[in-house]
Amino acid sequence: GGIKYILLRCDILIGGDMAAIQGLENSDFRIQKLGECSIDTPLSYSERNDDKVANFTKSGTRVVLNGRLYSHETESFKPLLLEAAGPRNKIYFDPSKVKAGIVTCGGLCPGLNNVIKGLVHSLSRYGVQNIIGFQHGFMGMLPDFSIPFMELNRSAVSGIHREGGTILGTSRGFGERTEDIVDTLEKMNINMFFTIGGDGTQKGALRISEECQRRGLKIAVVGIPKTIDNDLSFVRKSFGFETAVDKAVESVYSASVEAKSVVNGIGLVKLMGRESGFIAAHTALASSEADIVLVPEVPFSLEGKRGLFATIDACLAELGRAVIVVAEGAGQDLLRHFEERYREVDASGNKKIGDVGIYLRDQIIDHFRSLNRPMTMKYIDPSYIIRSQAANPNDSLYCSRLASNAVHAAMSGKTSMLTGLVHNYYVNIPIEMAVAKRNSINPDSSLWRGVLESTGQPPRMV
Ligand code: ATP
Ligand code: MG
Repeated sequence: GGIKYILLRCDILIGGDMAAIQGLENSDFRIQKLGECSIDTPLSYSERNDDKVANFTKSGTRVVLNGRLYSHETESFKPLLLEAAGPRNKIYFDPSKVKAGIVTCGGLCPGLNNVIKGLVHSLSRYGVQNIIGFQHGFMGMLPDFSIPFMELNRSAVSGIHREGGTILGTSRGFGERTEDIVDTLEKMNINMFFTIGGDGTQKGALRISEECQRRGLKIAVVGIPKTIDNDLSFVRKSFGFETAVDKAVESVYSASVEAKSVVNGIGLVKLMGRESGFIAAHTALASSEADIVLVPEVPFSLEGKRGLFATIDACLAELGRAVIVVAEGAGQDLLRHFEERYREVDASGNKKIGDVGIYLRDQIIDHFRSLNRPMTMKYIDPSYIIRSQAANPNDSLYCSRLASNAVHAAMSGKTSMLTGLVHNYYVNIPIEMAVAKRNSINPDSSLWRGVLESTGQPPRMV
């Protein structure tokens, strides 16, 4: 029916949970539009400016999400189709009438500045001259705080990609004040709003977009999803994840050097990953020096024949040291009795979690002390060092491409959507779908198998 399929046979969620796509329909992935595209794009990439040239994405081009299934289950295969991202040769907005707003919310992540820069460059290429940066997240959009906004242009964003953090600043909380936020957009005549942030930010963006529709405002709301944990559903990887793994590997090497240099040395590294252990798993594989990896998806116990203490013993006996990588959300059930924080939530309503790193450090020390065995523990928590890094080259490239695809989508009047990468194709994904469920490691996936092969730890440490 005029749809061009791109058939793929690669692993879709890289260790993620395939069950996430069950029961979904193609209509779930339909992207909302503000209206018909009737304006000729001002962009030109080559002498031929029609959609037969690869530089423009032909309307209706789809990417098959469940490509891997195709090769296995041809009989029952039902392709799930995502809209391909990219510039259209007909657009919705007249660039001279566009006023764009950009906001960054939530925790820091490598690449935020790259995304801001990418948005500004891409908008400028379309000829957009009014670009506003709201400061300190949604807080900077509320009149109560009188936080000035920043005018952005190519000169203002020059060089920012080499710095960690975000030039716009960020915040938690205030997202629930949807009406006030939309008042600000309306008052400032913003018709294109880019939200750079995590699940909370994008849930807020969806509410903002719905409120815009209720008021009949033609505002394109397009998100660039941020999650250093790489736990976004349907997307191959999130920006900043690779930089995080790069840096985390250095911490594992340090822990390993420390552990090797003493008798019964134990190096313990706590990494990010509140609900999904992708950083821990990838770091273990990339460093190839982790002996034990603990993630939220795979429960473990301390005692018992296959518990953590016994696994540490086995490592010490074989290698003379043990290097443990733990994701911050791992083993939360073990901490439940100790941690008051379980009942607390942060300003954005996120559940606070107990500090599994400190907990394990102390439990392991106590265990060895009770046996009167010598041991040296070196504990490293590099989380804030990692989050504040500037993006590495590959993440930088990824950020700028996500950003330009976000601009292309907004120029085409698409809204309530996020940009992402599926297989090797950039796609538009409805916010509602992307935030419905987090991606997490499937313990029966090849990713987790790889971790077990690399570390030598028992499949289940319970
Ligand atoms: P991360 O968790 O990776 O740091 P995040 O975007 O999830 O990023 P949050 O602090 O949870 O970070 O949320 C960012 C912003 O989004 C906050 O200003 C918060 O108030 C707002 N927000 C969170 N959840 C919602 C929601 N359900 N509806 C509206 N706004 C929300
Ligand atoms: Mg969040």
